[in-house]
Order: sequence, then structure tokens, then C-alpha cells
Amino acid sequence: MNYYSLNNKSHKVSFRQAVINGLAPDKGLYFPETITPLSKDFFENIENLSNEEIAFEAIKQFVGNDIPETVLKEIISETLCFDFPCVKVEENIYSLELFHGPTMAFKDVGARFMSRCLGYFNQNSEEKNTVLVATSGDTGGAVASGFLGVKNVDVVILYPSGKVSDIQERQLTTLGQNITALEVDGVFDDCQDMVKKAFLDEELKDKKLTSANSINIARWLPQMFYIFFTYKQLKKHNKPLIISCPSGNFGNICAGIMAKRLGLPIKHFVASTNANDTVPRFLEKGNYDPKPSISTISNAMDVGNPSNFIRIQELYNHDLNEFEKDFTSYSYNDKITSETIKSIYQNTNYIAEPHGAVGYLGLKNEMQKQQGCLGVFLETAHPIKFLDIVEPLLNLKLPIPKQIESVLNKEKIKTKISTYEELKTFLK
Ligand SMILES: *Cc1c(COP(=O)(O)O)cnc(C)c1O
Repeated sequence: MNYYSLNNKSHKVSFRQAVINGLAPDKGLYFPETITPLSKDFFENIENLSNEEIAFEAIKQFVGNDIPETVLKEIISETLCFDFPCVKVEENIYSLELFHGPTMAFKDVGARFMSRCLGYFNQNSEEKNTVLVATSGDTGGAVASGFLGVKNVDVVILYPSGKVSDIQERQLTTLGQNITALEVDGVFDDCQDMVKKAFLDEELKDKKLTSANSINIARWLPQMFYIFFTYKQLKKHNKPLIISCPSGNFGNICAGIMAKRLGLPIKHFVASTNANDTVPRFLEKGNYDPKPSISTISNAMDVGNPSNFIRIQELYNHDLNEFEKDFTSYSYNDKITSETIKSIYQNTNYIAEPHGAVGYLGLKNEMQKQQGCLGVFLETAHPIKFLDIVEPLLNLKLPIPKQIESVLNKEKIKTKISTYEELKTFLK
């Protein structure tokens, strides 16, 4: 399977090269050259297949010959070492809980899959790759945990000093081995700017820097898996499915649309955003006008210019009419998000965190327009990751899950930096 750059269709590389590069040299995102739907048989029998078998069928055409089938099956099995339950919240509404992994964020799936692909590609090589990531919280922990101990890969994580929660900081700074945390004197955008600058820096070429956010195909594509698992669990109800993704960089929802392209019967997708409403504004007004990001309580979605939206447009050949048949987008502010966390709890006893609550809101909106469907919102993180918001709103104390407990008493090890030159010296 080849991938082309969305900036230049004649620039093509293999799966392997696309994973190693992250972004094409012309700064375009990679996109698969062909997408071949799976057989009818597969969907008719999906409830008899294991999650690992489903994931293998979904991803194998995108990997092609670059990883032998036996190795790919091992990678999938290590990636999917936890459950993906669809929990009934109220009549016809389910929460797809994506937080049962090692760092309690859905990004565990993509990070684990990508790290093992990169580890396989580098296993006999003398060279190392350095994965460089900026995080506002959740990505860093998932990447640190996913890449821990992977041979010939060093991971450097930049996070803004004082802007991530204590739990998130511990998930980044306590692992050691090939994982290094840099505490940046600044905000998330400063971390992001330093990372971007490093990718473009000729003097760092030999460091083979790559990214581990959803621009990387090996982090993006495995996010299809749990949309397949949702269908497997809810197929028996025999109702059309609406899926609502709380969206930031739109990687999750774009992977869901890929699953639909493979033949998965999903009726409609909803991209629910916080006050960062570039996509809902685009659908309403017709011009794409990204704005600088605004801080919200669902901070993993504080993205002003969603990087994967271009991939979604490509999936619809940039035809807005076709696109809007499958896709709606809504934006919600913090006030209504907080009220919704409370009302979900009061009405159903279900504890949602801010990202899931935004997803729930979009789902409810769409279900008023489309009757007779079953709705699913993605719960993308465990409420404990956002305990400073959830606990006071619901006036309760959340029990600490074992994944979190294991990092609470470990010592934080980090290096403070404040300028790009310090990052560069560190990388050299
Ligand atoms: C990253 C993240 C999102 C946004 O996902 P995208 O694929 O970037 O749209 C939503 N919720 C949580 C908790 C996240 O960490």
C-alpha cells in the first residue's frame, strides 16, 4: 500500500516510510492511495469474531507487505490489551468507553500500535528515531506509556509548566528508560512551536525526528478499530447507528469515516466541539477560517485548526454536499458542558467527563433530527483525568483506579527548559 501527500499526489511512499516520516517532506499529510471495502460476509459474521480478528481485517490492507502477517497480529494483540465496552446510559444512548487502557485515554490505542510498528521497522537498524511530542495533557502520557522500552526509539515530551494536572504530569515524568520529559516555561502553544521548529531544523536532520500525534498514519488508522467494536456490540438491536465524537484534531472521527468507507454500516457522524468551532462555522458559513485556540474545560480539544479535517475532505473528494449527508458538527461552551455533566449524573448516575459530555450533547442534538436510531458518544478519557472539574460539579470523590495509583507515588523526573536553543542543545 502506498500513501500520497495531500500537498502533492505524485509524492508517494510506502506504509513504512510514511510512519517513519510522520509528515511528508512537503508538509502534507499522508493518505492511502486505495481504500477497498471489506466483504459482506465479514460484516454478517462480525459478532463471531474476536476484537483482534476484526482489527486485523480492518488494518491489513493499509499495512500491506511492510509488516509480515504474524508480526502484525502480535502488534494488534499487544495494542488491544483492554476492553472497549458500549455502556447503556439511557434509552437508545450508549457511551463507548475508550478509557480502559494503561493511561486511561483513547490515545493508548494509537500510541501502542504506532510504537510497535516503529519498533519493528527499527529492530535491526543501527539508527534511532526520536519521537518528539508536545502535549496539553493526555497525548504525552499515552505516548510515554506506549513507547516505553521500545528499542531504537527515544521519546521526548514537551509539556507546559503548571498547565497539566498532577496525575498527567506523573504519567509523563515517572517512567524513565527511553522517555524524557521537558517542562517548558510557557503555554501549550510554546511547546508546539518548539516542536514544529525542530522538525524543520536542518541541523537536527540526523536525529530522525518523527511525530506521534494523529497526523502519523500509524496513530490515526488504528482508531478505526473501536468503531468496528461498537457495531459488533450493538448490531443485535438492528437500528441505524449515529456516532458522536468529541473532536479536537478530528483524528478519531476521520478514522470512523474510514471505517464506514470499508463498509461498516454507520448512518451518521457527529463532530462535537467545544468553543473551538472552526468546523461547525465552516459547515454553516461555507468558508474555512481557523482561529487561534481558546482554553476550555475539555482542553484536549482546544484546537483552532484541526489537522485531520483535510483528510476528511479528501475522503469526500472535497464535495461538501456528499459530506453533509454523513456528517454534522456542533459546538458547545463550557457552561452547558458543566450543566450536562451534572444532568447526566442526576438522571442516569453515569459519570461523564468534559469531553464525553460534549459528545453527548452533539449526539442528543442529532437524534432529535433523526428518529429511530441508536446513538453512541465516545467517552475519550476516564473522569479521574479531569477530577478537578468533575468532583466539585458532582460533589463526590472519585476512587483512584489502579492504573493511576501506580504512578502516584513515583518521583517526577524532568528537565526545565525555556527556549528553543535549550531544546536543540538537549536533542543534540
Ligand atoms: C485527543 C482527545 C480528544 C480529541 O480527539 P481528536 O482525534 O484530536 O479529535 C478528545 N478527548 C480526549 C480526552 C482527548 O485526549
